[in-house]
Amino acid sequence: MSQLSKSSLCKWKKKDMSNHFDMLSELVNRPAYLCVKCGRAANKKRNLCKAKSITIAED
Ligand SMILES: [Zn+2]
Repeated sequence: MSQLSKSSLCKWKKKDMSNHFDMLSELVNRPAYLCVKCGRAANKKRNLCKAKSITIAED
């Protein structure tokens, strides 16, 4: 695993996103957290700098 997958998505550079699109997709394909600072979403809390869990309304 690359270091990138362990670091906050908020710190990824535009170039990282295009170069590692597959990895990025895996990190955000089932978003459960939203970064309240940057507005990014991710599956894991550790991938965001100010993660807040997304509450999904169920009926
Ligand atoms: Zn952030």
